[in-house]
Amino acid sequence: MMVTPDNLLGSVVGVYLARAKDEEILKRKVASGGAVTAMLIYALEKGLIDGVVTAKRVSGFEGQAVVARTREEILETAGNKWSIVPFAARVKAKIEEEDLKKVAIVCLPCQAQFFGQMREFPILETDFGERIRYIVSLFCMGTFAFEAFLNYLRMKYDIKAEEIKNMALKEGFLEIQHDDSLLQLPLKEVYSYLQTGCLVCADYTGTWSDISAGFIEKEKGWTVIITRNARGEELVKGAEKEGYLEVRDGSQVMGDILRAAREKLARAQRNMMSLL
Ligand code: SF4
Repeated sequence: MMVTPDNLLGSVVGVYLARAKDEEILKRKVASGGAVTAMLIYALEKGLIDGVVTAKRVSGFEGQAVVARTREEILETAGNKWSIVPFAARVKAKIEEEDLKKVAIVCLPCQAQFFGQMREFPILETDFGERIRYIVSLFCMGTFAFEAFLNYLRMKYDIKAEEIKNMALKEGFLEIQHDDSLLQLPLKEVYSYLQTGCLVCADYTGTWSDISAGFIEKEKGWTVIITRNARGEELVKGAEKEGYLEVRDGSQVMGDILRAAREKLARAQRNMMSLL
């Protein structure tokens, strides 16, 4: 679905704040609520899916596409992704290798568009849209051009890639935890290290997904969830009913989501204009 000023979030059925009920998930996902992890574990344990395809951080900034088929494997894949893993190209091979019939895919909005379009408008025999049960998209303001950004961190702040333990977007800055210190970089400073494609990307929430999920600072400990269709609603409601998820109304955070979505669209429009 095309993002326009009048349709910043695409189709919205429900907006919720949710968090995992499982203590182990909460311990690992203190800030963000762990709702995506809890929903995926619910879907797996109830037989709604037979695997989750997602990106896993292997070291430093590096990530790879992996299939999680157990609760523990899903728990291991939870966490922030700071780069685009070359993902779409590998998903088909993974699905076939592992003979997955119904998968959930956790991805970024640009990747959700690829999978969503393939599922809605199958063209080739080689498509695998019918195997995609759920598309879960994570809110995204952009991912970094690795080499350039790492080089910048090394040159300006003397931070090496292997020292980086975590990175999180906060309001107005990027927080980098390295060894025992925290560096807070204003977003304006890091924007020039985003991937070129991100600078013209207008989709903040992932309008082609069944469920979008993200985090906002003022609701620490909760995951913001947008459901876009009956499939997404059933997953959230089912996980709540079966005791995997605690869910409350999220209408009070709509303003924050819209603000971020508007900011991303404006950035894309500005950058597009400069290309013309
Ligand atoms: S900003 Fe857009 S293009 Fe860049 S990673 Fe996020 S969704 Fe993909």
